[in-house]
Amino acid sequence: MDTSPPRLEIKDITRSFGGRAVVDHVSLTVQPGQVTCLLGPSGCGKSTTLRIIAGVEMQDSGTIHVDGELVCDTIFRIPPENRSIGLMFQDFSLFPHLTVAENVAFGLRGAKAEKRSRVIQLLRRVDLERYIDDYPHQLSGGEQQRVALVRALAPSPKIMLMDEPFSGLDNRLRDDIRDDTLAVLKEEGTAVLLVTHEPDEAMRMADEIALMRDGKIVQQGAPYNLYNAPKDREAAAFFSDIN
Ligand code: ADP
Ligand code: MG
Repeated sequence: MDTSPPRLEIKDITRSFGGRAVVDHVSLTVQPGQVTCLLGPSGCGKSTTLRIIAGVEMQDSGTIHVDGELVCDTIFRIPPENRSIGLMFQDFSLFPHLTVAENVAFGLRGAKAEKRSRVIQLLRRVDLERYIDDYPHQLSGGEQQRVALVRALAPSPKIMLMDEPFSGLDNRLRDDIRDDTLAVLKEEGTAVLLVTHEPDEAMRMADEIALMRDGKIVQQGAPYNLYNAPKDREAAAFFSDIN
């Protein structure tokens, strides 16, 4: 049996605003190389959970471990920039005054030539090398999205947190970009926690789904398990519109 720790493990995370528990004793895991989707209706606490993991929001209680090492509890806290966590949000726009290459290199340390070769490798992977010295406004929305993806991946984070990254894209583009993004993440071997309110997106992308409702994780498991054996009527209803 594999006894190595999960890539990400959060235990018993709670966060209240004005006396209301928005995140209520949430525990979940993400295994190395896997995509876990945090799925639930709008307002159920997904983004707050992600912000706590990223370290830009504090929990009231609970712990976060990456590869078995404590990242954060209520006393000890590694700052966000040292967590080896990549971030991609819907409105995580590129820096407009930097070129595509400068955007992708932004989080990279080390010698100039090394950084340049990593940037070229990543842009080639998403088929955007020709835009390397252009500015973001010269690219389409879908192209900017792919630049944002490789910018987040450039420092080889241990885990990537994605908050509804595809919801700003029109339907025609969305499936392609989703599939492309998934392929790149799998190739890089990056573990992912992806937030979405769309069951079909979770079914399409996830190795595991953590279903969230009213601040709580209702069920975590393989997509077909949640689909075939939802824990209660509400969970069943949530999956029932999938075609
Ligand atoms: P989701 O991402 O699932 O849509 P959020 O985590 O953004 O949900 O929000 C969950 C709930 O917490 C919402 O009711 C939201 O209004 C509330 N909330 C989030 N952040 C704050 C805050 N800083 N202060 C007060 N309420 C907040
Ligand atoms: Mg949200």
